[in-house]
Amino acid sequence: MPHNPRRAAAVERLAALTETGPPPDSFLVSSLHNIRYLTGFTGSNAALLLGADGEARLFTDPRYTLQAGQQVDCAVSIAKGPLSKAVLKAVGKARYRRLAIEHDHMTLAQFESFRKDLPERTETLPVSGLVEKLRMVKDAGELDTIRRSVLLNSEALEAALSHLKPGMTETDLAAEINYRSRLLGADGPSFDTIVASGERSALPHAHPGNTLIGSGILLIDMGAFFQAYASDMTRMVHIGKPTKTYKNAYKAVLEAELAAIDVVRPGVKADKVDKAARKVLKAHGLDKAFTHSTGHGLGLEIHERPRLGRKDPTLLETGMAITIEPGVYLEGWGGIRIEDTVVVTATGCEILTPTPKELRVI
Ligand code: ZN
Ligand code: ZN
Repeated sequence: MPHNPRRAAAVERLAALTETGPPPDSFLVSSLHNIRYLTGFTGSNAALLLGADGEARLFTDPRYTLQAGQQVDCAVSIAKGPLSKAVLKAVGKARYRRLAIEHDHMTLAQFESFRKDLPERTETLPVSGLVEKLRMVKDAGELDTIRRSVLLNSEALEAALSHLKPGMTETDLAAEINYRSRLLGADGPSFDTIVASGERSALPHAHPGNTLIGSGILLIDMGAFFQAYASDMTRMVHIGKPTKTYKNAYKAVLEAELAAIDVVRPGVKADKVDKAARKVLKAHGLDKAFTHSTGHGLGLEIHERPRLGRKDPTLLETGMAITIEPGVYLEGWGGIRIEDTVVVTATGCEILTPTPKELRVI
């Protein structure tokens, strides 16, 4: 079997799970993102059985026979019925006794039906985040793809804004963004594009609606998937002359964002980055208006570990791709958020997002 460094790292982590007795001798991976990471398979129905001895077998259905053959570098079983039946059979055949399962990626119903048919002497061990922890640190190929995803996303913003005209609604602009992004090569949006105008920008996850984009605040939070890797960026545009309140709040959020970026480097705890942003907003009397975390990892999913929130003890490592996105939200007035994607480097971090952050007025 070809050596796959990602699967080797997963097996190594499995061997370290000794808190509740001997380590698992096998691992059932159910998350499609984790399966993609460990095998390259992109189909929508799969399970992966990893043995502590390095054996790996992907289970999928007949729709994916050809695709699995092209994408996957381990053994493949095409199951005609439910995948769980085929997995159980393989577990029995390999005489696995301690099977780790992905606690976060199985419903209770799936788990109960699976456990019911397990060979008698096989126990299950719930594990959480084993592959997700590996996925936090990106390799050079992944970083290159994320970089391209981020560049495409920034280009799509400019292309869409060049089509902004009076009479457009939030939905119109969101559709324009998605269209431009797709034309530039995106697989699709990495989350529902947020376009929030005026007071509606006070909703951090506003869904674009039929509100006309008029004079005042315009918040745009957008991301693309490019070759499966996510980008994520928030920019503010002010239509017409901004008020003094807007200018001051914008300045405070930008200062908070830059302060947070400034502390990003290997060995720093994720919550320290969050603290840096909050400290700046507090000095401006705006800390209570900052109601979410400062950022998150991104990669095959738009939200990955680490979470740069108040209590995340994760130590930042070279190769992590994270967002930095402080914001302030004031009911009845509006909101401001500025978000970049950055990569942790040996000496600090590199900001991937090229879109300027000076106060923008249209
Ligand atoms: Zn975002
Ligand atoms: Zn984000």
